Amino acid sequence: MPEHKFLNTHPRRLAVVNQNGCSGCSGSPACASICETVTVRGAAVDAIRLLNAPESPFYVCLVETHKCIGCGRCVPACPWKTITMHPYQEALQIRAMVSLPILMTSGRPHPQPEGEKS
Ligand code: SF4
Ligand code: SF4
Repeated sequence: MPEHKFLNTHPRRLAVVNQNGCSGCSGSPACASICETVTVRGAAVDAIRLLNAPESPFYVCLVETHKCIGCGRCVPACPWKTITMHPYQEALQIRAMVSLPILMTSGRPHPQPEGEKS
């Protein structure tokens, strides 16, 4: 298991984004905004990345498993109800099923939507 950034071991549960249902919130992901407010010993957890997925018409979110502490605050923030919480091992399995393959090898953090790039 990769080292967790904030915990001595993995959390009991993880957030999973079903990327097939993620709209990217038009480039301003509500889930990521919430996660940025979650802190551990004064440091922002910031576990959600917005990624460019060429196979999707939208940018989609991915939860970084080495940062997520399992607080669940992102779940009610999602307008499309596409984030769910699961026990850690189950979450890894579900995550593999609901992630777009391209995101396993590429992507960039917090891109601006097309047409809004500086
Ligand atoms: S469960 Fe908490 S730490 Fe994990 S992605 Fe959601 S808001 Fe961030
Ligand atoms: S809040 Fe939901 S729809 Fe919006 S970017 Fe996050 S997971 Fe996707």
